[in-house]
Amino acid sequence: MKSRHLVFLGPPASGKGTQGRRLADDQGLAYLSTGALLRQALRNQTELGERARPYLDRGEFVPDEIMVPMVLEWVGHQENGWLLDGFPRTLPQAEALDEALSEEPRAIILHVPDEELRRRVACRLECVDCHRVAREGEGPTCPTCGGRLEPRADDASSNFENRLQEYRRLVLPTISYYCRKGRARIVNGTGSPDEVYGRVKG
Ligand SMILES: [Zn+2]
Repeated sequence: MKSRHLVFLGPPASGKGTQGRRLADDQGLAYLSTGALLRQALRNQTELGERARPYLDRGEFVPDEIMVPMVLEWVGHQENGWLLDGFPRTLPQAEALDEALSEEPRAIILHVPDEELRRRVACRLECVDCHRVAREGEGPTCPTCGGRLEPRADDASSNFENRLQEYRRLVLPTISYYCRKGRARIVNGTGSPDEVYGRVKG
């Protein structure tokens, strides 16, 4: 039987969001991106949203004591299966999620070598006007605002290295946790989106 509770993990630029959404659509699972959840909490000025705001304003990760109740509240409203993208990020988050559930989630981990991630980020184009990141094959103008697409600013590469380091520091222990529990499946994330999805689907 396929698990109806999935968590999707992978480094920045691994294609995790695209693949996770597609899998959720295919299997009729509710899809949660923690980024979208945070933006919604800010818009609605919820108590947790207001507590998260200063961290987001400083570009920092939102701490577990805010993130965990926010996601568990969402999970508690779901009547069917779900797929989480961007959570759990840390080991305490993974443990809190397990404790809260009767059916423990299974993890899908998208693995892409660092060199390939760097290549992807270097080739990514961004709109000079609205800063939307272009998808593969888009161009030469921004589909949203018609602005010019250009490679992302130089500081993007050091920014990316920071995110990659943060990922290793926080998420690798989480991945080990799911592996030890026999609830992880590692998927090769290289190749075209369709090739990767063929493996994700399993
Ligand atoms: Zn634009």
